[in-house]
Amino acid sequence: MSQDIIAIDGPAGSGKSTVARAVAQALGWTFLDTGAMYRALTCEALHEGVDVHDQGAMGELAASARITTLPRVSVNGRDVEDEIRTEPVNVAVSVVAANPLVRSSMVARQRELAGAQDVGTVVEGRDISTVVFPNATLKVYLTATLEERSRRRGEEGVESVERRDLADTTREASPLRQASDALLVDTTGRRVEDVVEEIVECLKNITSN
Ligand code: C5P
Repeated sequence: MSQDIIAIDGPAGSGKSTVARAVAQALGWTFLDTGAMYRALTCEALHEGVDVHDQGAMGELAASARITTLPRVSVNGRDVEDEIRTEPVNVAVSVVAANPLVRSSMVARQRELAGAQDVGTVVEGRDISTVVFPNATLKVYLTATLEERSRRRGEEGVESVERRDLADTTREASPLRQASDALLVDTTGRRVEDVVEEIVECLKNITSN
């Protein structure tokens, strides 16, 4: 691949979206929120009455669904920007994301999307540095205490955040884990600007060598 990629992984509420968006803006790069893709597909399943536990049916839905994340999240032409953060989606998305058929479809799209850009892409999710872009220019693993992560997730609540983290780290298909060569950044109590600066500095060091 010719374009640069910054891959950012981490658990729910670790600051991935905020940081990834700000890093992309600082560099003039594009940004891809892969969690929004799994969430949009989950919205479509709930909307169409597809059983999220039916792996085959969900695989077919994943293969055919038209998903956009920018400028707003949509699926098959329906705007789901607000719906993706609702409780039913928080609950069902872990099941959808554990399905290997769904994952292979989403991973292929993520590679295609980033590959089609004229500039670099900051991609955030759970398996970006381990599976989607194992040769990313820079890999970052963001973390924060459970208390702070739950606070950031607001209404979702600590139980839901903990449940999703457990599901994401223990599933068989591409579980969340820190890549051995990822920069570990604990965002607890840190300002977004400082985290962004650390990441941009790290990128500069890598690319100037
Ligand atoms: O990042 P966000 O909380 O929006 O992600 C929602 C869910 O999507 C996660 O809990 C995880 O199950 C799934 N996900 C994933 N792989 C990614 C991004 C998100 O499995 N690359």
